[in-house]
Amino acid sequence: MLLLGATGLLAPGLAQAAGVSRAALTQEGHHTRLVLTLDGNVRWELSAQAEPPALLLDLPRGAWRGATTLAGAGCVSAVRVGTTRTGSRLTLLLTGPIATPRVQSRDNLLMLEMRPGGGPAFARMAATGKLASAAEPARRPTASLPLVMLDPGHGGRDPGAIGAHGTHEKRITLAVAHELKRQLEAAGQCRVALTRSRDVFIPLAQRVEAARKHQAALFLSIHADSAPPESARLARGASVYTLGETASDALAAALARQENLADKAGGLRLPSVPPEVLSILFSLMRQETRAGSERLARLVVAALDDETAMLPHSHRRAGFVVLKAPDVPAALVELGFLSHPLDEEALGKPAHRARLAAALVQAVHGYLARQQQVALGGGAAAGATSP
Ligand SMILES: [Zn+2]
Repeated sequence: MLLLGATGLLAPGLAQAAGVSRAALTQEGHHTRLVLTLDGNVRWELSAQAEPPALLLDLPRGAWRGATTLAGAGCVSAVRVGTTRTGSRLTLLLTGPIATPRVQSRDNLLMLEMRPGGGPAFARMAATGKLASAAEPARRPTASLPLVMLDPGHGGRDPGAIGAHGTHEKRITLAVAHELKRQLEAAGQCRVALTRSRDVFIPLAQRVEAARKHQAALFLSIHADSAPPESARLARGASVYTLGETASDALAAALARQENLADKAGGLRLPSVPPEVLSILFSLMRQETRAGSERLARLVVAALDDETAMLPHSHRRAGFVVLKAPDVPAALVELGFLSHPLDEEALGKPAHRARLAAALVQAVHGYLARQQQVALGGGAAAGATSP
C-alpha cells in the first residue's frame, strides 16, 4: 500500500479490537486531509481549541493503536497523541486559524478536510464545543449476534499433553481460549461462550452438547499436540482437524429419534414426516455442517499459516468426539507440539498466544461473514435446497 505525504502506518496490533488501523495526513493544494481507517465501530468526537489553535479528536481508550509519529502537513504543524480521562486524544496543532473542517464519515473511513480560515470564526468554533461526532454505533442487539463456542481442551484431572519442560496442555488451551474470547468480544461481531472457563474436567460429550444446546454458529476446540519421544525433535507446528468421513452414524441414529429433528433439518416444519424423509433431511443437514466445518478449517489454516509454524498437511481429518455434533460446524486446532522445545516455549508466552488468537479471530470473522451472506442470500442456508 502506497500512501503519499506524511503518513503513519500503524504497527499491526496484536488484538483486533475496534480502533484506528491506518492514518494518513496529506496536503492537497489548500487543503490538508486527515484520513483514518477504522476497524469496527469506533466512537469519535471532534472539537476545536483556541489556544494554541488545534483540532482535538477524541477516541475510545486504546483505539489509537500506534502511529505516534504521524508528522505534520499543510496547516497541521504537528500531531500529538495523548490520553484524557476517558480515552485517547489526537491533537492536530494548527499553523493558524482554520475554517470549519469538512468531516466525512463513511463505512470505515473518517476524513477531515481542513483549510486556513479567519481568526474570529475559529474562536467561535472553539467555543462551540463538539464540532462533529460518530453516532453511537448501531450495534445489533447482543442476543441476535451469532454464538461462537470455544472449547479449551482437557482440564481438571486431565492435564492433556505434558511438555518437555512440564507445560500442561490444559493451561495453554484455557489461556488461548480466554484471550480469543477477549479479542472476539472486543470486535463485537459475535457472542462467545466457553465449554469451560476454569481448570475443571468436562466430559467430551458434554462439550458437544453445550454447542448444540446454545445453537452455536461454530465450535472451535483448542488443543496442543504431543509426539512420541522418538519423533519429539521433529514434529512441530500447528494443524487443524475436521471430522473424518465415516463419523457419527450412531449419533445420527440417536438424533434421528429426537422429535425436534424436522426443525433442526433446515428449519422445516413438517407435521408428519416418514422415516425415509427424515433420514434424507438429516443427511442434508450433516452435509451442510460438514461443508461449514471444512470451510472453517481452511480459514483457520490460512490465518495460522501467517503467524506460526505449521505441520505438513495442516488440514487433517479424524474422528474426534468433540467434532461430532451433526448440526454445528466444528474444527479442532492443535496450536503446536508441547513435545517440541521451541513450540513449548512459544506457547508459554502470552504474546505468542495473543498472535495465535488474533489469527483465529480472523478465521472466525471470515467464517461468520460468509455465513451472513449465505443467510441473506436466502434458501441456500436451509440446506434442504442443495442437491
Ligand atoms: Zn489435547
